[in-house]
Amino acid sequence: MRRKVIAGNWKMNNDLKETQNLISKLTSGLSMDNLNCDVIVCPAFTSLSEAHTLLKDTKIKLGAQNMYFETSGAFTGEISDSMLKSVGCEYVIIGHSERRTIFGETDELINNKIKKANLSALKPIFCVGELLEEREAGITEKVIEKQIRSGLMDISSEEMSNIIIAYEPVWAIGTGKTASPEQADEVHKFIRSLIYDKYGASISENVIIQYGGSVNNKNAKELLSKKDIDGALVGGASLKSDAFIEIILAA
Ligand code: PEP
Repeated sequence: MRRKVIAGNWKMNNDLKETQNLISKLTSGLSMDNLNCDVIVCPAFTSLSEAHTLLKDTKIKLGAQNMYFETSGAFTGEISDSMLKSVGCEYVIIGHSERRTIFGETDELINNKIKKANLSALKPIFCVGELLEEREAGITEKVIEKQIRSGLMDISSEEMSNIIIAYEPVWAIGTGKTASPEQADEVHKFIRSLIYDKYGASISENVIIQYGGSVNNKNAKELLSKKDIDGALVGGASLKSDAFIEIILAA
């Protein structure tokens, strides 16, 4: 039985004070002893250290939204795995579609980042998903297969057991359009079959595959009831404490 994982991607929202407020509402609104799922929040880099302090005695884990694969050096504007570890991050989102489409991240770059995150025991939340035109052209599985195979190139079984996969159809992110639970579940099953082919039964049965794309407090329960949907990566709705708490409770 896979334990569900709900992650909030706060993107480029919330300054320090707003982050403090949101965390305080989440920690006071959730009963930590009765949490039946894992909860991760991914604030902006500038709030990670403070978020770590505020989350210390809670069960909410901390993640970052991105990292670079080099250890240190002349990479202006980038941040390394060890820097994220030093402010208490346990997770890092890698290959989010906004990184792929706005910042031109390639499968190869994403693969390098996943490898580097693994080296420092940061757990990658590895995002894959098709564009609307790709779904309409009937090539969703082809696109997902390429992203999964390239992103996980040279990743060992041991490393794979630390990786969460997030299926995020790009046409559903921030658009209010959600994949139907059946559409999402179908792709999740396909992803699990790819993991089975490469890593075998045990890893494929245990890998967490989150759904992301306009998840909210109204649709979470149905999506999360699907057999192969093991959690959610939530953008917009994770910025509202009440909605995010409802999603967590739905899991
Ligand atoms: C995301 O940013 O990963 C996401 C799924 O956003 P939203 O929930 O706003 O669609």
